[in-house]
Amino acid sequence: MSQDFYDALGVSRDADESEIKKAYREKVKQYHPDVSDEPDAEEKFKTIQKAKDVLTDEDKREAYDRLGHERYEEAEKHGADPGGDGGMGGAGGMGGMGGAGGMGGMGGASGMNDIFEQFFGGGGRSRDPNRPQQGQDLRTRMDIDLEEAHDGATKQLTVTRPESCTECGGSGHPADADVRTCPECDGQGQTTTVQQTPLGRVQQRQTCRRCGGEGQIYSERCDECNGDGTVRREATLTVEVPAGIADGQTLRMEREGAPGENGGPNGDLLIEVSVQSHPDFERDGADLEHRHPISFPQAVFGATIQVPTLDGEVEFEVPEGTQSGERFRLRGKGMPRLRGRGDGDLYVTVQVVTPESLNEEQREALEAFAEAGGEEIEVEQGFFEKIKNSL
Ligand SMILES: [Zn+2]
Ligand SMILES: [Zn+2]
Repeated sequence: MSQDFYDALGVSRDADESEIKKAYREKVKQYHPDVSDEPDAEEKFKTIQKAKDVLTDEDKREAYDRLGHERYEEAEKHGADPGGDGGMGGAGGMGGMGGAGGMGGMGGASGMNDIFEQFFGGGGRSRDPNRPQQGQDLRTRMDIDLEEAHDGATKQLTVTRPESCTECGGSGHPADADVRTCPECDGQGQTTTVQQTPLGRVQQRQTCRRCGGEGQIYSERCDECNGDGTVRREATLTVEVPAGIADGQTLRMEREGAPGENGGPNGDLLIEVSVQSHPDFERDGADLEHRHPISFPQAVFGATIQVPTLDGEVEFEVPEGTQSGERFRLRGKGMPRLRGRGDGDLYVTVQVVTPESLNEEQREALEAFAEAGGEEIEVEQGFFEKIKNSL
């Protein structure tokens, strides 16, 4: 069960917008997945973001207060947009992204909106289609290697995203185009149809197809964007990756998402970071695991070995009489923790390597070793001879 949005932000139900935004900023500091080690930080972060999105949007907040938490979530889950601005509240599902490649946005406005409005008594309200709206959040992925996760990195990321058309300033038409009221919707931006459904007669309002909800039509379209107001462009962004970031964490670049409408702000760009596996280390939170081969004499007598770390090689004293599989801790040689809370450890598991072949001298020495320990071993025959003889 998800948490009530007012509780999530820790504000009262009559908090005004500035109180909500202030509470939100406090919570972000606490739960931003870049900076929080709490295991469910990402989940909590999503909740507070959604809480802020809903409670700072007049229409959505009104719907939320009217429906209550559960019904609001329910309505939204069924594809409705209870606050009803045609987007998905900025939280929402973008299409598949491949690497640095394409990003997809999606427009909202399904007929379900209106059915829910009928059910929940919100019908009849008409919204200004020309009010400023924040652009969509966009999602992409970025690969980094373990060294970059360890040190932190400044990466260049190239994305293809919708940007406001510079030719027409995002309006979709030349500045000198003639304008008239849309005859289809009579300037309302929406058309109404009445449908017979199993639930009775349902009145549906839809964004006007002729004018796209603007209520006005223009004599010419912008050639550059074909009237959309946006064009897809490649942009190269500089991404600061914090040291200690975990595989699967998401970085948010504010205002780098899709352009807003009617002067609204851009959405954000969410970058899911994938940390590649490393040949020498396995990562477990802030700790690293490393397997290191040693020889039988090194295990017996002890030895100084060179162990790789992400800060370069270090010397390590293998104690006398070490068993194969023994695990040692090198304190502070693991990954840094986010927010400067120290470093994890490096665990080195030593593995005694049994020689697969011996030269004459080694064989004799080992036989002598065995005899000295009172072991009786058959060593006259080689392995292949034994097989030959047994046939
Ligand atoms: Zn244009
Ligand atoms: Zn129209």
